[in-house]
This record gives sequence, C-alpha cells and structure tokens, in this order.
Amino acid sequence: MKTSSRKNLEGELGKLAEAFPLAKGSMTATHSPCTRKNCKLCAEGKGHAKLIFTYRDEGKLKGLYVRPEHEKLVRLAIENGRMVERFLAANGRSLVLALRGEADAE
Ligand SMILES: [Zn+2]
Repeated sequence: MKTSSRKNLEGELGKLAEAFPLAKGSMTATHSPCTRKNCKLCAEGKGHAKLIFTYRDEGKLKGLYVRPEHEKLVRLAIENGRMVERFLAANGRSLVLALRGEADAE
C-alpha cells in the first residue's frame, strides 16, 4: 500500500470515511446460567449463550453485553476498525520509508 504522498492519503481516507460503523475491540460468546427454576439448559450445564463486546478503556479491559439482533452490526464495526488499524500501520511504514528516501518495498 503506497500512501506516502498526501494525494494518495486523501484517496485512502475517502475510502475509510465509508467504513461505518467503527469499533475497536472483539466479540466473544460466553455461556452463563439463568435465574429460572428447573431450566433444562442450565441443568445440563450448557447455560445460555451471551455475546460480549470487549474493549480497552485507558488500558482496562471492559465488556458489554450485545443483543443478538445487534451482532451483525457490531461484527462489521470491528472488521472496519481492524481495516483502519491496518491502514494506519501501513501508512506509518510508508511515511518512515519515504522520509528516509527509500522506496516502499511493497
Ligand atoms: Zn437457564
């Protein structure tokens, strides 16, 4: 990815602006028991699947429950966030190589 020139960078940022929604974190499925009496799933030790969005807030790991109907959108946001992170990493590499007067090897 050659993004060392301002013009290239503006083009790439245009694409990134369409990356919506955005999130940084991950989503994991956990299983926990419910409060119902005589629940079959809990009696079998299976529990109930629950999605948790985990993220860092000033270094501290935090988690939020995600409603099943929001799963797709949160997944998309995480994917978009990873794309932005890859872009930033690649752009930093290109910047340093350009400043050193070296061609981008990619
Ligand atoms: Zn249960």
